[in-house]
Amino acid sequence: MPITAVLFDLDDTLLWDERSVEEAFRAACEAAGETVDPQELEAAVRREARGLYESYETFPFTKMIGINPFEALWANFTAGEQQEFRQLEQLAPGYRKESWRRGLASLGIHDEALAERLAAKFGEERRSRPYMYEETLQVLDELRGKVKLLLLTNGCPALQQEKLDGVPELIPYFDHVVISGSFGKGKPDKAIFGHALELLDIAPEQGIMVGDKLTTDILGGLSAGLTTVWINRTDKAPDPEIQPDYRIGHLSELLPLVQSL
Ligand SMILES: [Mg+2]
Repeated sequence: MPITAVLFDLDDTLLWDERSVEEAFRAACEAAGETVDPQELEAAVRREARGLYESYETFPFTKMIGINPFEALWANFTAGEQQEFRQLEQLAPGYRKESWRRGLASLGIHDEALAERLAAKFGEERRSRPYMYEETLQVLDELRGKVKLLLLTNGCPALQQEKLDGVPELIPYFDHVVISGSFGKGKPDKAIFGHALELLDIAPEQGIMVGDKLTTDILGGLSAGLTTVWINRTDKAPDPEIQPDYRIGHLSELLPLVQSL
């Protein structure tokens, strides 16, 4: 059965989120002052943020929807119907400040005002960096008109929308956009893939799932019966338990692949 649709993950597949986050950390950590090693502070804040995030009762929900601790360091949780989003909205300001306060404290710096300032700076810096990979639009240009395109992203609706607003040229390429926080379940859950296939009005054999994360994009794509393409730009270790149908290192390799199927 020929391929008639491509489903794309967003973060670190089409958008270079990893770079945006790294640069935002760097800028915020450098603002801590000359006596602070920015790399050390970044590692400390990442560690403290992760620990704190996992201690909240919202953790199983954020894990299921697919919102990571560093997204929560700048996300607005203003959208989404589930009651957990309201809880997260309440938690977020304290979470941000506390992550930075603990990070600084672990380096021997006890300064609440500085923690608050750096927490805010991280959010501003992240917002000012909506990076897309340079090949993203070119690849979508080639695919448009030949196959249907669907964006399938895990995350909180307000945040994913904000990321998309940062690159307004991206959305018009897609026939459908599915955000896990709006749907109610995240990848790899079979239900969200079923929803996507329904929107595309295709059988699983007619679709390709392209994504950078084995445990969500590829695992979910495989269980939904889609052909899966793992984009591994950074030489991540494979997982013997999750075998994608195809592996690529650059998005442009997708075009000949789609044509060959
Ligand atoms: Mg991703």
